[in-house]
Amino acid sequence: MMKKVLALCLSGYSALALAGFDVVALGVDGGVSDGNLTSYLIRNDSQPQYLALDAGSLLPGIAKGLEKGSFPQVTLELAAPYTQQGYIFRQLIGAYFISHGHLDHVAGLIIGAPEDTKKNIYAQADTILTLRNHYFNWKAWPNFTDSGNGSRLGTYRLQTVRPQQRVTLGVTGLSGVMYPLSHDRYPSSMLLVSDRSGSFAYFGDTGADALEQSRNLDSAWRVLGPLIEQKKLKGMIIETSYPNEVEDKKLYGHLTPAWLLKELKSLTQYSGGEGSLKDFPVVISHIKPSLKQGEDVRATIKQQLDQGNNLGVKFLLMEQGERQTF
Ligand SMILES: [Zn+2]
Ligand SMILES: [Zn+2]
Repeated sequence: MMKKVLALCLSGYSALALAGFDVVALGVDGGVSDGNLTSYLIRNDSQPQYLALDAGSLLPGIAKGLEKGSFPQVTLELAAPYTQQGYIFRQLIGAYFISHGHLDHVAGLIIGAPEDTKKNIYAQADTILTLRNHYFNWKAWPNFTDSGNGSRLGTYRLQTVRPQQRVTLGVTGLSGVMYPLSHDRYPSSMLLVSDRSGSFAYFGDTGADALEQSRNLDSAWRVLGPLIEQKKLKGMIIETSYPNEVEDKKLYGHLTPAWLLKELKSLTQYSGGEGSLKDFPVVISHIKPSLKQGEDVRATIKQQLDQGNNLGVKFLLMEQGERQTF
């Protein structure tokens, strides 16, 4: 009997250990091209619904994801009467987390709102105010939220998330804890997404602590370090907007490869020291594309990250529409 119980427990444990996070990149750039702005979907791969991590581009990213086979679970029959793209947007995005109120993180949400279904939007207080006062105000766009001025269409329930407070993220089966970030002294945020099997960190735009005169990244590293040491953190998404050639005073609250590497080095103080980030997956987001001939910023940033990578971090540059499991 004991043996049977133990066997059951073990098989239960391995099923949990196998569960992971399914991430689909809907938009990977930090501006300029309106069809490819920051947004990632994440779900526990045993759950149908995703949480959208920012919402710069939604429908164009879903279309790319379908082209690349990143939504194998969504058949035409399942989606009917909607298109597969429409079904994923309306039914499989279960909730939104918005890291900060900049347009390149919310454009897809605003423009798609008339076709969306009732959902929760989670964000820190400042971001909720920006959505309410500057976008969904009947001037920039109709008020699709449940609060604010004028008549309220009520598609979105605006949920203010306080720092370090655990929240259940709608119907996704995930929970999250938000940590503040400094983005040219504008408030941005990181969300630590968790389920029973582990956690995943999503960073909105952020500058390095030294340039922002902030301790916010250091505070985030103190939280993430022990999770890395315990093998509970499956990966993270963080920005590297500009290559190393851009001067510090022109970064406007963003990271370069050199600054990210410096910050990750400081993370190792809390994750078990030298070698503790070996093979740890770090997805690079929010690269600012160049419109100049012959400039490939993605390639430059990848090369600069690899060159300075004495931590052994596994840097990943996901393409729009690509899917990865963590
Ligand atoms: Zn941005
Ligand atoms: Zn920003």
